Amino acid sequence: MAAQDRNFILLLGAPGAGKGTQAQILQEKLGLPHIATGDLFRYNLSNKTELGLLAKSYMDSGALVPDDVTIKMVADRLTREDCARGAIFDGFPRNLQQAVALEDLLADFGGLDVVVMFTVDDDVVVERISGRRSCRNCGAVYHDSFNPPKQPNVCDVCGNELYQRDDDKPETVKSRLYVYYKQTSPLIGYYFAKGLLEEINAVQPVAAVTADVFKVLSAHGILVAP
Ligand code: ADP
Ligand code: AMP
Repeated sequence: MAAQDRNFILLLGAPGAGKGTQAQILQEKLGLPHIATGDLFRYNLSNKTELGLLAKSYMDSGALVPDDVTIKMVADRLTREDCARGAIFDGFPRNLQQAVALEDLLADFGGLDVVVMFTVDDDVVVERISGRRSCRNCGAVYHDSFNPPKQPNVCDVCGNELYQRDDDKPETVKSRLYVYYKQTSPLIGYYFAKGLLEEINAVQPVAAVTADVFKVLSAHGILVAP
């Protein structure tokens, strides 16, 4: 398959910026898999795999899981058939070493097409994370006030019970933000220098953010079905 037949999209931004919410919408519209490293770790944890238990010890404190483990997990995920036309990355890469590793992983596939940077203020992030409710079964994400499920605490998609992630409690959110500024935010300059960075204002209603993401994607030749 020619490189231009594949689209690799990266969603970048602080925890709680709304990347997962938009990735779920994009996944449907573009027919591309949503690769969220946080979801992959949580899936492993709920299945009590060795990887999941290892990841938990880092996630509980808001620290990053070691690069070798994380990069290998993404490399394995990319070998799956559903990535043949590309993928939407969310939560990976989270530091420069992971960014370089991703370049190697995508070298034969034409590399990343675009990096969409979700800009939000810290107080918005804290408000969004503190009201986030997630589905343990399918990973769908809601918010108590901004994006509530149709029935309280029940997932619209699969009917399972919603829960609050342990690392969404206020103590951990602070460290996650610190880790974001220290380790992940240098990627903004990194991708800007490569001409891949597109910044969007993520402090808007979900549908308005989606519209801005679609604009950016079509400017990069990635066509979204109406
Ligand atoms: P991330 O994947 O960047 O950590 P999420 O997509 O999980 O962020 O969103 C964090 C929380 O904010 C969730 O509860 C989600 O429902 C809510 N949210 C996402 N986008 C918006 C938005 N544009 N406006 C208000 N709330 C939002
Ligand atoms: P997220 O679901 O993206 O908010 O991630 C939840 C947690 O999973 C993070 O706080 C990290 O502990 C871990 N994690 C997710 N993605 C990565 C990554 N790319 N590198 C290292 N750790 C990660």
